[in-house]
Amino acid sequence: MSESFLPFSRPTIDEASIASVADVLRSGWITSGPKVQAFEAKLSEYFGGRPVRTFNSGTCTMEIALRIAGIGPGDEVITTPISWVATANVIIEVGATPVFADIDPVTRNIDLDKLEAAITPRTKAVIPVYLAGKPVDMDRLYEIARKHKLRVIEDAAQALGSSWQGKPIGAFGDFVSFSFQANKNITTAEGGCLVLNNADEAKLAEKYRLQGVTRSGLDGIEVDVLGGKFNMTDINAAIGLGQFAHLAEITAKRRALAKHYFACFGVDFEEKFGAQLPVADFEDTNWHLFQLVLPERITRADFMAKMLEKNIGVGYHYAPIHLFKLYRERGFKEGMFPVAERVGRQIVTLPMFFALTETDVERTVGAVKSVLQQ
Ligand SMILES: *Cc1c(COP(=O)(O)O)cnc(C)c1O
Repeated sequence: MSESFLPFSRPTIDEASIASVADVLRSGWITSGPKVQAFEAKLSEYFGGRPVRTFNSGTCTMEIALRIAGIGPGDEVITTPISWVATANVIIEVGATPVFADIDPVTRNIDLDKLEAAITPRTKAVIPVYLAGKPVDMDRLYEIARKHKLRVIEDAAQALGSSWQGKPIGAFGDFVSFSFQANKNITTAEGGCLVLNNADEAKLAEKYRLQGVTRSGLDGIEVDVLGGKFNMTDINAAIGLGQFAHLAEITAKRRALAKHYFACFGVDFEEKFGAQLPVADFEDTNWHLFQLVLPERITRADFMAKMLEKNIGVGYHYAPIHLFKLYRERGFKEGMFPVAERVGRQIVTLPMFFALTETDVERTVGAVKSVLQQ
C-alpha cells in the first residue's frame, strides 16, 4: 500500500547540464566568466534585448535594484504581506521603511487599490510579487506607478515563463527580479537575475555586485560606490544555461499538470469541501505553485500531518510577513491585513514540478479529498 514519498517540489537537471558543470570544473575558470556572460546574453534575448545581470540570489537582485533606484532612509516602499520574507527584508536592508497593503483574496497577490491607498508623499517604490507565478494586472500597476512617480521593483522570483498579454514578464516594465533558487521553475541551485532599463543601470548593477569596483586597462582599478559580493559563478551559470533551454517545455508541462489538477478536483470541489482553488489561468501564469486555501474547520498543521501519513509532502507559501517578530517590533500587528492573515494561516502548496506525473496529481487530489472529508 505504501506509495513512494511525493515532495511538493523537486528539481530536474538533465545530463547535458551535469556534463557542462563538469566541463566548467575542469576548465581552470570556475567563478564568474564565459558561462555567466552566455547566460546573461540568453536571458537578455528572451527579455526582448533588455540588459540583464545575474547574481548569487534573487534576494540581492532586489536589494541592488533598490540601491540603483537611490532608495534609502526616509523612503517608504510598499509591498505584499504574503511573500517570502526576503521581499520585505531588502527594504529594511537599504534603510527604507516597509509598508504593506493587503492582498486580493482571489489572486492572493497585492490588492492594487489598497496599494494605491497606501501611497504617501514619502513613497518612492513598490515591490509587487507574482505569487505562484500569477502576475498582477500589469497595466493598472504601471498606471499607478506613472501617476505617483514611483519606481517598480517586480519581485518576479516565481514568474519566469509567465506573461502578460502575450509578452514575457521581464520583457517590459521597470526593474524585474527573478530567482533561480532550487525550487523555482528553472534553477542554478542558488542565483537570480535582474532585468534593467539601460546601460547605466547595468553598469551600476555590476559595481554593486562586486565591491563597487571598476577596472580599466591592465591594472586600472577604482572604487566609487559601496558594493558587496553578489556575483554568480560559472558553475551555477552552466546549470542555468542547461535549464533555460527547457523553459518553454517546463512551462507547458506545468500548465498541463495544473489543468489536470482542476479536472481531478472537479467543478463542485470548492462547494463540497469549502476549500479555495487558485485562479484557473492557463494564459499568463507559469504555475510555479499549485495552492489551496483550506477551510477553517481544519488546521494547516493537521492537514499537513495527514497528507504526510499518505506520503505526500505539502508546503506553505507563505506566513504573513508583518506578523514576524522583526516586523511586530516595527509596529505591525494582527488585524492590520485581515485577508493576508486568513490566507496566510490556511494556504497550502501541493506537489508541482516538471517530473510530476498525471498519476501523482490523481493520487494527491484523492488524498486531499479524503483528508478534508474526515
Ligand atoms: C524565491 C523567492 C525569493 C528569494 O529568492 P532567493 O533566490 O532565494 O534569494 C524572493 N521572493 C519570492 C517571492 C520568492 O519566491
